[in-house]
Amino acid sequence: AGSVVFENVTKTYGLGAVTAIDNVSFTINPGELVTLLGPSGCGKTTTLRMIAGLEHATKGKILIGGKDVTQLPATDRDVSMVFQSYALFPHMTVLENVAYGLTVTGVAKAEAHEKAEEGLDLVGLAGYGRRLPSELSGGQQQRVAVARALVLEPEVLLLDEPLSNLDAKLRRQVRTEIRELQQKLGLTAVYVTHDQEEALAVSDHIIVMNRAVIAQQGTPRELYEQPASGFIADFIGDANLVGAELVEVEGDMAHIEIGGLRQTLPHRGLGIGPVNVAVRPDAIELSAVNGESRQSSLKGHITHAAYLGNQMQYSVTSDIGDLFVIDPHIDAPIATGDEVRIGFSGRGLAVVPTD
Ligand code: ADP
Ligand code: MG
Repeated sequence: AGSVVFENVTKTYGLGAVTAIDNVSFTINPGELVTLLGPSGCGKTTTLRMIAGLEHATKGKILIGGKDVTQLPATDRDVSMVFQSYALFPHMTVLENVAYGLTVTGVAKAEAHEKAEEGLDLVGLAGYGRRLPSELSGGQQQRVAVARALVLEPEVLLLDEPLSNLDAKLRRQVRTEIRELQQKLGLTAVYVTHDQEEALAVSDHIIVMNRAVIAQQGTPRELYEQPASGFIADFIGDANLVGAELVEVEGDMAHIEIGGLRQTLPHRGLGIGPVNVAVRPDAIELSAVNGESRQSSLKGHITHAAYLGNQMQYSVTSDIGDLFVIDPHIDAPIATGDEVRIGFSGRGLAVVPTD
């Protein structure tokens, strides 16, 4: 398995009219599954196509396995790609589809078919080789596409939104299969998705892109627990973005005031003054206000309560704005219209710039 390195890569289309990638640098280590995550149009596919050699960088350098491939055509790169649309040949059998890439590169037919059988076995489709793609389900067709890429034993496997044509349950199943296979074979894989849950579930490392640049990169846990901006906090999971005041810094920690409540949170280099706090929906604790309360505290009103079987979801209006709250306690739900006291659990809060 090979590494992939981008050094200050820029890609423009239409003689510079569109900057799809703007001076992007990253390193993908051998054997890692790294996800490019971001909203539609942020440059994910362009990045993947540049790794494949299907597009060429306007500026900068691309290295695969330590070798400079910036000027190398796709056919001379040791990568293979799995597309969203599967792109299987409809008139070839499943086995012929999987063997196709091998025969094209000059592998004898018997050997190619043998390898294709092994590939189908890897993705759990042993015995399906004689069928036509149209005789398989969507999930099975996507597995064929994965097998076809794997039999080429690429240095890097590229997957561009491979699951978007599948329904939600099947997506979860196939993403687990892809991740297990990647780990078992020790493959370097670059996985593109706009689905944050999918990215969290399968990745060693996530590169979040926004408008042609990297917004933040890190492990799934780093991105979720230490978002660098309100954009990241809201894009990776859900977050309420609440205005607050950073009043004091003490070592690594910052004292924050949110609507009169004091919180001590990891500091993250911000100065004294206005900040935002990204508050996860399950980090807000609501309690019913019983009768008169002299305690000074943050209060709000439930404007909507929804029962989801394993959790309650509340919409709350308060002095610090409208809040979305998830509560795993479903036995004594709070009713719409009720007044509530609002508290925060220590976890699930992160200070971010107001930007
Ligand atoms: P993503 O995969 O994240 O949705 P893309 O890499 O496909 O994003 O596109 C990034 C930007 O480049 C978009 O603004 C898109 O319209 C533009 N773009 C992509 N391909 C081309 C092309 N062949 N010609 C012109 N503009 C393109
Ligand atoms: Mg795309």
